[in-house]
Amino acid sequence: MSESTPRLRETLGRLPAYVAGKPPTAAEGLTPYKLSSNENPHDPLPGVLEAITRAAAAMNRYPDPASSALVEALAQKYDVPREHLALGTGSVGLLQQVVQISAGPGDEVLFAWRSFEAYPIMTIIAGATPVQVPLRADEGHDLDAMADAITERTRLVFVCTPNNPTGAVVRQDDLDRFLDRVPDDVLVIVDEAYVEFVRDPDAVRGIETYRARPNVAVLRTFSKAYGLAGLRVGFAIAHGPVAQGLRQTQVPFGVSTVAQAAALASLAAEDALLERVEHIVGERTRVEAVLADQGWRLPPSQANFVWLRLGDRIGELVAACDAVNLAVRPYGDDGVRVTIGEPEANDRFLSVVAPFAPR
Ligand SMILES: *Cc1c(COP(=O)(O)O)cnc(C)c1O
Repeated sequence: MSESTPRLRETLGRLPAYVAGKPPTAAEGLTPYKLSSNENPHDPLPGVLEAITRAAAAMNRYPDPASSALVEALAQKYDVPREHLALGTGSVGLLQQVVQISAGPGDEVLFAWRSFEAYPIMTIIAGATPVQVPLRADEGHDLDAMADAITERTRLVFVCTPNNPTGAVVRQDDLDRFLDRVPDDVLVIVDEAYVEFVRDPDAVRGIETYRARPNVAVLRTFSKAYGLAGLRVGFAIAHGPVAQGLRQTQVPFGVSTVAQAAALASLAAEDALLERVEHIVGERTRVEAVLADQGWRLPPSQANFVWLRLGDRIGELVAACDAVNLAVRPYGDDGVRVTIGEPEANDRFLSVVAPFAPR
């Protein structure tokens, strides 16, 4: 037998791994909490569970490949044409498609760094070149530097607002000034995975921006505020050619019948879900106030997590959290991202982190 293995694309060797948030360890005596993946801590609403139970009865059939009912509901909710919608297996699925339809070998994909770790991965999978522009000292996007980094090879720009993992938002007036400098034939994706948690009136309004500019599209997800992370459904709102490209490149039947039913039921139960979001925002305000009292000087978070720059004490904090059954998410030498969770989880985190505060 030959020793050789199949020849795969050499770009795989350059691919950073996607690091998923770890589950907490389950030492005895303390309820474990997962604060490492920005998940919604609330259990599913009973009505949503009932809807997916009904949908599960049809699991021997393929799903509606066009997700027609969900597309119709989203078109009405956001007042956009149905042709401007594309659904995906979470917005991560759409992120991959966005790169596929816009960039390949020799092309550049521009984004801030640190930002969502799927951006470099999807860019490298497509064979394109990631161009990463460091965040400003206040953890926000440096849009002037990003505009300066545009070349004739730039095909795609990601703007993540609120930014994962730092929680900072881009301001609408800053985005408008940036977009005035972006060539019309460069696609700009506004990734609004956490938009439901935003309370800053000056923050980007992605859908308004899409309406005004044919090269801008918005990505949204049911995973965070709507609590459907396990079912994989997100959507893009984009002008005709971009939305069509996304539909052309989707994995056939990727969004399951159960996911479609859950998303529809969640839209119908939106008031109850947004009340829960309000509760999480309240916890965020409380956590930030306690952190400020402890001595932390943090950029205000507009998402469902906080971000602590800790340099060489990252490992120590992660271990201290681990010792009390809290999973948090470290990022290299930069910092730790901690999801706003159940009040008890937040309290436990606040007591663990207190001794790490800068004084
Ligand atoms: C969580 C997240 C997403 C999408 O998650 P899906 O579960 O794939 O919908 C997209 N962008 C950012 C910045 C995120 O943090």
